[in-house]
Amino acid sequence: MSETQERPPRHQPFTPAFLADIRSRTPLAALIARDVRLTRAGRLWTGCCPFHGEKRPSFYVYPDHYHCFGCGAHGDAIKYLTMAHNMRFPDAVEDLAREAGLMPASATPSAPRKPLAPLLPPEPDDAPQRRDAAWAIYRDAQPSILDTPVEAYLKNRRIDVRSLPRVPRALRFHPNLYHSESRMSFPAMVAAIDNGAGRHLATHRTWLEYAGGAWIKARLPAGMKNKMVLGTFPGGSIRLARGASGKSLAQAPAGETVVIGEGIETCLSVALALPELRVLSGVSGGAMGGVELPPQIGMVVLLIDNDTKPEAIAAKARIVDRWIQRGFNVRIARSPHGNDFNDCLTGG
Ligand code: ZN
Repeated sequence: MSETQERPPRHQPFTPAFLADIRSRTPLAALIARDVRLTRAGRLWTGCCPFHGEKRPSFYVYPDHYHCFGCGAHGDAIKYLTMAHNMRFPDAVEDLAREAGLMPASATPSAPRKPLAPLLPPEPDDAPQRRDAAWAIYRDAQPSILDTPVEAYLKNRRIDVRSLPRVPRALRFHPNLYHSESRMSFPAMVAAIDNGAGRHLATHRTWLEYAGGAWIKARLPAGMKNKMVLGTFPGGSIRLARGASGKSLAQAPAGETVVIGEGIETCLSVALALPELRVLSGVSGGAMGGVELPPQIGMVVLLIDNDTKPEAIAAKARIVDRWIQRGFNVRIARSPHGNDFNDCLTGG
């Protein structure tokens, strides 16, 4: 009896538009990088072919397909899963759709799979230079924010850093940081964005100014941003509070709960209200799903703003799905009004 007779087709046919959507939403290099050690080659990625034995890489990953110049293997993300993971076409489609947020996470995965590593977007070609510049800004900033405009700015946002169990080391004060859009320099709060191993990836900058008797975010002409990240930060986060253990993220106790939010200020407010919890800023909503955590973490609490726009809700659902797929227990804390997560986290 053949496979198809035992298992009648249970799938709806997929439309070409649906398949195209999946292909465009799947970062192919990140998918293949789960199996193959890839290194950057200009705008492409290269590694040893997973389909034939080789010692010198002849396998190349382009944005929309892979190609092996050794054995001729060639295809897109769906073909890759069918060939490398021996998956049936509809199962491969469903897996990728689920990962792209095009299908509910509650659907049962077709096969057990490796836990998802954070998906790495391709780096721009000037990434090494930007990373060096980002590190230089952080390195040259003043290590303690106490008695600096950063402390005053945060206090003005009702965040008293002296009330935290420890002042976050990830935050520093830069007295005179260049802002390229306006071609002016301002004092700034700078924050280290580190990967799971604690390596510096990028630097988050918040430019400040003194106005009306208080330190506030720099008021810039329309269209200019007073908060920006220098460098790319796949898997990165800003470590803002270590919680009850006081240990670094890599040494977090088994089963620990980690709170991950978006903005630095929101995360600090939560750290003040709940000093026993470890709190990380994922920097941006999109990056919150990819924050690297050590395997012993037991639960992830995501701070999600209430948002009524359908596309924003869909984006947040994708973040939650991604954490579920990565094998973590996930809880969501929603903000009922503005940035105030404290009520929902404490149940008050
Ligand atoms: Zn090959």
